[in-house]
Amino acid sequence: MKKAILIFSVCFALMSCNAQKVESSNSNDVSVSETKNPKLIVGIVVDQMRYDYLTRFYLKYGDGGFKRMVNEGFNCKNNHFNYIPTKTAAGHASLYTGTTPRYHGVIGNNWFDKTLNKSVYCVRDDAYQSVGTSSADGQMSPHRMTTTTFTDENRLFTQMRGKTIGISIKDRGAVLPAGHTANAAYWFRGKNEGAWITSTFYMNALPKWVSDFNASAVANNYLRTWNTLYPIDTYTESGDDLNNFEDGFKSKSTATFPYDLKELSKENGGYDILKSTPYGNSLTTDFAIAAIEGEQLGKDDITDVLTISFSSTDYVGHNFGVNAKETQDTYLRLDKDLERLFNVLDAEVGKGNYTVFLTADHGAPYVPAFLNSQKIPGGLLNFNDVKTDLNSLLYSKLKVQDLVLKISNEQVFLNHKIIEKSNLDINSIENIIINKLLDYDFVNKVFKGSVVNNFAFQDGAEYLLKNGYNQKRSGDILIVMESSVFSDGPWNKKGTDHGSGYAYDTHVPLLFFGKGIKKGHTYRKTEITDIAPTMSALLGISFPNGATGMPLGFVLD
Ligand SMILES: [Zn+2]
Repeated sequence: MKKAILIFSVCFALMSCNAQKVESSNSNDVSVSETKNPKLIVGIVVDQMRYDYLTRFYLKYGDGGFKRMVNEGFNCKNNHFNYIPTKTAAGHASLYTGTTPRYHGVIGNNWFDKTLNKSVYCVRDDAYQSVGTSSADGQMSPHRMTTTTFTDENRLFTQMRGKTIGISIKDRGAVLPAGHTANAAYWFRGKNEGAWITSTFYMNALPKWVSDFNASAVANNYLRTWNTLYPIDTYTESGDDLNNFEDGFKSKSTATFPYDLKELSKENGGYDILKSTPYGNSLTTDFAIAAIEGEQLGKDDITDVLTISFSSTDYVGHNFGVNAKETQDTYLRLDKDLERLFNVLDAEVGKGNYTVFLTADHGAPYVPAFLNSQKIPGGLLNFNDVKTDLNSLLYSKLKVQDLVLKISNEQVFLNHKIIEKSNLDINSIENIIINKLLDYDFVNKVFKGSVVNNFAFQDGAEYLLKNGYNQKRSGDILIVMESSVFSDGPWNKKGTDHGSGYAYDTHVPLLFFGKGIKKGHTYRKTEITDIAPTMSALLGISFPNGATGMPLGFVLD
């Protein structure tokens, strides 16, 4: 009894100084450590990671990276994106806000802004200046994301004492996860600079640990020869190195190992070439480790959050595709980087003091031409041609030019000004467009935005379209392509792309491990929007203000 009272008093004392989650009312069930929140949450997004990259390369992974998460933590094996379009910015926003573009407003990477009457980039913000670069690449903020992230809620809950730091090669992969209240978000400026940069949205000058990192030779050292980590003939989980489905780099005639990155950097954007190699992920890991030390993350009892997006997997995927030796090598090397990161967390924050989740911002299909070679349907549709077709058809019927302003993210934006001025009936224009679009072999379904907005579907493409449809920002007409068909563009002739609601784009890993996480796995369907509410539940803090996902109670201790 005495012991129970003592434990209860210790718990109570910890509660009052920490003021975070205490679940149990039975003192005998509560150990001292269970009354405290993790010192650090690390959110890891692997850009373009399909679920089967976890299983296809599993036997080649070491024990300390992906496998450690699977063996020590919880594996949600049937985790999906629950909206269209499955693009990077929408992915990061959705998993940290716990809701979909319908509510958080980030409907793509770029979209046509109906009020500004021009295309906008998700995180571009001219109200702020670059920090750490003479270019405009730092002029970013999360201002187009209209709801809070769980990282914001943790900042509010802790009276801004818990830190948030966001890191990614891509600006959007750093800015959106870190939320509106982040201490900092850092991303990589390639070209001739090779430096981590930020925006005056966060600060007016880089902290010393960042300037020191930039002044070191770390980025330069990665301009080395990229060869496979293990002998290439052991890479039996991917296709032949030489094939017709990969883009490769300028000034190298074949997309085959080895790649002399120093030499290739001259024709491929200087330091930008690192983004399209596994060394972009290694550089991200180095920088994240520097941040853990430089910002003293996880050093006190107030929960900090570090968000890391490994973006090079996406560049490699776009360039080489799902079945490439380069893709396999990138994942085997990322596995080593994860092990390195977890070892630092063990040493700096302590085993059992931190919690990690790992997921992706979308998946990807096999390269359509490769699928065709295996008798599976797929292909490319050029939306510039489609736009020209639609405008000439509308002109022939209505004698008004340029009624279609833009097709972006497979959404058609109509010229409302001209429609009003010419006194045209928008419904009949939409019907003409829908009938024409359905003539294309690669188009599967077409809907009016106003109809999608009122869908009652609980599954299928219709459910995903509704979740991705934002009444103020989305287009007038939404197109659903056939499977493994995506937009034709200069970089899509070979390699892959993503954005659909098909399983190859929606099914991604979701792994949790560390403090407060059970061991286990489930085949129950989970959605990407469940992650933020789960983190909120773990921390006992408010859900993000637009959250529509549900906490995954079976994952939590
Ligand atoms: Zn991508």
